[in-house]
Amino acid sequence: MPIFQDQKGKNISNFQKMIDEKKNTIRKYYDEIGHLYYGQYKDVNVDMTKDINARCESISNLYIEIEDLNVKILRERGLKKCAVCGTENNLSNAFCFKCGARFDDADAVPADVIAPPNASATPSRQDTKQTKIEPAVTPVTAEPVIDASATAEVTDEGKEE
Ligand SMILES: [Zn+2]
Repeated sequence: MPIFQDQKGKNISNFQKMIDEKKNTIRKYYDEIGHLYYGQYKDVNVDMTKDINARCESISNLYIEIEDLNVKILRERGLKKCAVCGTENNLSNAFCFKCGARFDDADAVPADVIAPPNASATPSRQDTKQTKIEPAVTPVTAEPVIDASATAEVTDEGKEE
């Protein structure tokens, strides 16, 4: 089997190992926060807020780092996650196949670039702004009210005949 595949597996397990280490560190911080808070509870004169906040901040950063590693693992598998709906997409997708949200990453094959270079020299700035706003879901609200009036017209015509 190709070495390429092997390398991918190695990268993924490396990333996974890093995630596990970060999760352990997070657990350690949670533990310390618990102790610090308890020390504060037992002795009203003790203020551990600074130490507690420092650990909370570290935990937040670790979660971000873990999320980055998860993204890297997905990349190794040729996938990426939609930031809007969380669906896994092919790395080359320019838009989420499920919700239609636009991918702004370098892997996305942007429709703009593919479009012929001469296509309407300068699309107005308003146009580009509008295209960035993604319609969440196309509202489907078709009430058969129009049909009723249509049939009414038909019956009227029928009377005329
Ligand atoms: Zn999506």
